[in-house]
Parts: sequence; C-alpha cells; structure tokens
Amino acid sequence: VHVFDHPEPMRRYARERRAHHETIAVVPTMGALHAGHLALVDAARRLAGTVVVTIFVNPLQFNETADFDRYPRPIDDDLTACRHAGVHAVYAPTAAAMYPAGFQTHVEPGVLAERLEGAMRPGHFRGVATVVTKLFAATLPHLAVFGEKDHQQLAIVRRMVADLDLGVEIVGIPTVREPDGLALSSRNARLAPHDRAAAVSVPQALRAAEDAYRHGERDAGELRAAALAVLDAEPRARVEYVEIVGVDDLETRSRVDDQVVIVTAVWFGEVRLIDNLRLG
Ligand code: AMP
Repeated sequence: VHVFDHPEPMRRYARERRAHHETIAVVPTMGALHAGHLALVDAARRLAGTVVVTIFVNPLQFNETADFDRYPRPIDDDLTACRHAGVHAVYAPTAAAMYPAGFQTHVEPGVLAERLEGAMRPGHFRGVATVVTKLFAATLPHLAVFGEKDHQQLAIVRRMVADLDLGVEIVGIPTVREPDGLALSSRNARLAPHDRAAAVSVPQALRAAEDAYRHGERDAGELRAAALAVLDAEPRARVEYVEIVGVDDLETRSRVDDQVVIVTAVWFGEVRLIDNLRLG
C-alpha cells in the first residue's frame, strides 16, 4: 500500500492512475478503522480499480478540543487493516500539510447544515465540507464512499458535490452494527462497560419506531414517542434529539408519507453517539 502525507505526491499518484484509465474510489475516514469503515472499502473495491483511504482527524470539524485530543489515532493498526483489505493507497496528511499558516478559505454548506448535528455542533459541517473538498482535490476520485451512519453528512456532501460541480459520484453504504444492534463507531471504545450495555437502547429505540411504522403508524409524533419511550426507560441515556426528517431535505415531518429517516443523538457519560434508521 502506498502511503502519502502531502497533497502533492498524493495527486501525482492519482494522476498516474487516471493516465492508466483506472477508476479511483476514495473512502474518507478519521482512522481508528473498524468493520464499518471496511464495509466502505469493500464497496469501493467492487466499484473501482484503485481504492484510496484517507485518514485525517480533521481539527476543523471538532467543536471541542477535548474530543479532538481524545480521538484515537492508531495509525499502525490502520495501515495494517488497509493492507489486508486490499487498499491501494492511504492518504494520511499531516495537519500542517492540510492547514499551513495563512489558511483561510472554507466551504460553507447551506440550510442542510443548520439543523440536528449542525445545531448542536456549530461549524462542524463547514469543517467537513472543507476537508472533503480538499481530500477530493488531492485524490482526484471518480467516486467517494460514505456511511449512512452519518446521514446528515452524506446529505450535505451530496448537495455540495451537486452545487459545486465537483463531478464525484457519492455512494452511501448501510450502517454496520454490533450483534446487539449498536452501530460501530470509533467512539464506542470510550464507553464505560455500563454505558456500553445501556447504549443498546439507541438501536432498540430506532427499531421501536420502525415496528410502529410497520404496524401502520404514520404520525411522526407517535413514531418519535415510541423511540423516546425506550430511551427514557434507560437511566444512563441522556437524549439530545430524536427527530423524524425527510431523507434528502432533512426537514421535520409531521406525517410519514414519503422516504424519511429517524435520527438521534444520545449521550452516555462523556460519549455522544449518533444513529439513524430509514422508515418507508
Ligand atoms: P469516521 O472515521 O467516523 O469519520 O467515518 C468515516 C466514514 O465511515 C464515514 O463515511 C462514516 O459514515 C462511515 N462509518 C462510520 N461508522 C460506520 C458504520 N458503523 N457503518 C458504516 N459506515 C460507517
């Protein structure tokens, strides 16, 4: 696996692959790779001849320094995982290469970034949109693979690519879960044992809403209440939001007559988990 830590050699490699008529798929990550990331890599391998994984803990998208400092960075394990997964190149730029002195240009998403995660984490999606644009500029991908786990991020990236004519096909991959339903996340490792056990209430809450939907409930308030009842019954869970929103516009729905997604953010101790499930 080729490893690059600067945009220039990364782009030279990408240009060379393109000159050989290879399709390039990029999988942007913050590292601490788990089976969820590897599902994205598998999809990328099916879709493209050259797979580039980017590993960068992006300071721009963290609104808490403590969260940024605590974020795991097991780069050697990540490189081994990429090698075993058949990744062709890893782009793991240094912060200095990404944001040299004098850096001042950002990509500002629109209303999609104002709600849910955007409301709770000011500047988060501006940081995501900016870094994704830079990662695309360095890796010159034909397509990019993202997880549905971060539903709002996926919607914002799709919008950004359309709005800025970036010409990168965006592929979304279903969330990979633990056997008990908890969505895999690099932050799960920070859950205390009791909180890890309690965190199963998050997927259970989403499934309670899905069950009600399957039984014909179409009132968003009722579906939301079904999910909240599960979380309220778990004393260790501190709910930040549970919302039922349109898949693409992320607008709150009062009735479910088209494609919607139930999205949630819940705290367990110091760890904030997000998850979502499509209804309809
Ligand atoms: P992260 O390293 O957390 O920034 O995530 C990198 C990419 O992996 C994003 O597109 C995430 O949506 C995706 N991802 C994270 N967790 C999962 C999961 N459990 N299943 C599928 N994709 C995931």
